[in-house]
Amino acid sequence: MRFTYCPDCGKKLIAKEIGDEGKIPYCEGCKKPLFDMFSSCVIVLVTDGDGRVVLLNQNYISTQYCNLVSGYIKPKETAEETAYREVQEEIGLRLSSLDFVGTYWFDKKDQLMIGFIGKTEDKELTLSGEVDGAQWVDANQAINMVHPKGSVSYALIEHYLNKKN
Ligand SMILES: [Zn+2]
Repeated sequence: MRFTYCPDCGKKLIAKEIGDEGKIPYCEGCKKPLFDMFSSCVIVLVTDGDGRVVLLNQNYISTQYCNLVSGYIKPKETAEETAYREVQEEIGLRLSSLDFVGTYWFDKKDQLMIGFIGKTEDKELTLSGEVDGAQWVDANQAINMVHPKGSVSYALIEHYLNKKN
């Protein structure tokens, strides 16, 4: 998102050279630049450490493909805290460990996706209202049940399978 008006004082912004950044929207009233903004989300592949992963059905996202746990980072939260919180909220599992895998730009929604693989000792899935269904699936099968190659879900499962073998 690119600012046109200052979100604090409402003044129309000008374009101002800011160091190496080039021309940035700038509020002459508040004397501050307003850099382009985007949302940051985490996406977590939850595993049992024994070859199985959790796939979610979320009809508001897709009725064709399964999803992984994901959610927006809240202000003052770290990406790791979001990952633990979202896994607990969406499928009711406590993670025993969390490994950072990589970041991915999701063009369709202008989001930065921060990818993790989380391990849990828990087995029983307790679903939130945002989740229509969830199941433990062998990772070799799971990779064919998410959005195909190029998606973040696919990349995380592929990473898990490569590490395991
Ligand atoms: Zn302002």
